[in-house]
Amino acid sequence: MAHLALYRKYRSQDFDTIIGQQPIVQTLKNALQQDKLAHAYIFAGPRGTGKTSLARILAKALNCADGVTIKPCCQCPMCVKIRDGMAVDVIELDAASNRGIDEIRKLREQVNYNPLEQACRYKVYIIDEAHMLTTEAFNALLKTLEEPPEQTVFVLATTEIQKIPPTILSRCQRFDFKRITVPEIEAHLKAVCQKENVTVDSRAVNYLARLADGCMRDALSLLDRLISAEGADLTFEKALASLGAALNTALAELLEKIIARDLTGALEFIGRLTADGKDLRQVGRDLLDCLRDLLLLSLRAGQALDLSAEDLAALQSVADKTTAAELKKMIAVFARAEQDMRWNPNVRLVFELAVLELCAPPSETPQPRSTAQALSEVETPLQTKTPAAAPPPLDPDQPLTFATVKQSWNFFLNKVKQKKPLLLTLLCEARPKNYADGVLTLQLKESYGFHKNKLLEPQNKNLVCGLLKEIYGREVNFEVVLEAYAAEPADQKTQWVKELFAG
Ligand SMILES: [Zn+2]
Repeated sequence: MAHLALYRKYRSQDFDTIIGQQPIVQTLKNALQQDKLAHAYIFAGPRGTGKTSLARILAKALNCADGVTIKPCCQCPMCVKIRDGMAVDVIELDAASNRGIDEIRKLREQVNYNPLEQACRYKVYIIDEAHMLTTEAFNALLKTLEEPPEQTVFVLATTEIQKIPPTILSRCQRFDFKRITVPEIEAHLKAVCQKENVTVDSRAVNYLARLADGCMRDALSLLDRLISAEGADLTFEKALASLGAALNTALAELLEKIIARDLTGALEFIGRLTADGKDLRQVGRDLLDCLRDLLLLSLRAGQALDLSAEDLAALQSVADKTTAAELKKMIAVFARAEQDMRWNPNVRLVFELAVLELCAPPSETPQPRSTAQALSEVETPLQTKTPAAAPPPLDPDQPLTFATVKQSWNFFLNKVKQKKPLLLTLLCEARPKNYADGVLTLQLKESYGFHKNKLLEPQNKNLVCGLLKEIYGREVNFEVVLEAYAAEPADQKTQWVKELFAG
């Protein structure tokens, strides 16, 4: 037997199995019992929240052999036909594929005829994705809604209520479907797993419910994928391995680091994203979306957001840690970075520069400049507020020791900053390891091969050597080794990086 998708198999078939839309279900039941049905309904809300399912259940309730009822039997020929989409008088029209006026014209011609089937009491028109109809089609539909035929009910389902003309809205009773909450999805997934003889741990269920983001259809499709990939014994670890980590959590984590001005943490985080194979251009775009949501939340305009209660709560906790002004700045910086990443092949550097700019201490934040500017800013000296200690003047005959190089490392970095800020972002991750026979050895962590290659590009190498010569009064060459080294105490590193980028 062909595999029946779980979301079809477990689609709600009566009012009592509709999940998460109790007020709407109750209002419809009342209308059925009191014979106060409207001619036209608008079911508005996110995808996968039960709009079409409820429209079909309404059609069954109106046409069940038991009579108009709030408990359609689901077994009589009409109920079965409606369930299978075979009832000729329950007409489903997908406006996403039939946008045209022809369909609506046909609808207008046929709408005044009685139901074709004897057993059918009410014709029901279900127009899915109704916002996709053309203006002409809306106008034609409006004429029908203005003089609604007897024994006919229209249900317009839409994910974008703002695109439905007000003239149509005013003719319909509107129901706003909520996103389905994580606990509601969890409960349903558990019930489905039980019926399918699938064992699953509660963390896996929670993970699936969160990934589904309020959409039951997605939740069941994810479960389907997981079962076919991993079998009937599911764990959180398998789910994670099979479906990948949710990006939103990652974005929130990155933003929290930026807000806390934890530069080291943020750079390490970007390193992890890169190592995981994430496309930083896409991360940048997602980050912008997320920042926009945060800004709305911090301006107390969160009700405009189309988000689950859980995501809203998570975002609110991030928004509470910062201000609207800071968020606007982040948006400006990442919007520029997003632009720059389109033409600049060094996506990671562009991304890191944006993060560096945002992690600078607030009072000393430099005027925002475009990353493009920064990247090309080879010769523009920047003011330094607190110059790091210069090395004592060295007699050219005096031997240069590693201790001297180490002591004056920050002085050197400041010089680099004045010459080429971009180079600084590379050198920030390096630290002097040794100096012998005119060669300075720099150490970079193993995952920083990209930084190493950039540092050794002739242009950058010449600049570094030129500065070393200027400071120590002799030719100093350098090499870069990639090897793990014990992390410096985070505070210490963050502090000097902050000082370096200040002013
Ligand atoms: Zn029935």
